[in-house]
Amino acid sequence: MKMLPTVIANLFGKAATRNYPFTVRDNFEHARGELINDIKRCIFCGTCARKCPSQCLTVERDKTEGVWTLEFFACVGCGVCVDACPVSCLSQKTSHRPVAVERAVITLRGKMPERPAKKGTPGE
Ligand code: SF4
Ligand code: SF4
Repeated sequence: MKMLPTVIANLFGKAATRNYPFTVRDNFEHARGELINDIKRCIFCGTCARKCPSQCLTVERDKTEGVWTLEFFACVGCGVCVDACPVSCLSQKTSHRPVAVERAVITLRGKMPERPAKKGTPGE
């Protein structure tokens, strides 16, 4: 009987929790979520891979093409790579990647930036 007022208040009062997953909370304005690489601007310098504390980034390159790979299940969303990128091609959404049951990686490919011609190169 002592609990009755509380039970009645909870039955007819406003819900204290959301009906997840049918009601999803809005993202926080500065939340660090899904990592995005605008690969057209990436110069494949490898700085993000060297700085990443989770070692979930890999950058490979040859003379013409670069490959940027993110093992996104290992990413902790710290944003270190975003801050370190010299051309600001990395960003983070405020939302998180949807849950998945299979481990996967994201592989993006792009052209290597052209190097400026050296001074005194024949044909200049
Ligand atoms: S730091 Fe930026 S430019 Fe360099 S490889 Fe990473 S994403 Fe590309
Ligand atoms: S957000 Fe952090 S953990 Fe994720 S790739 Fe960037 S540096 Fe690595």
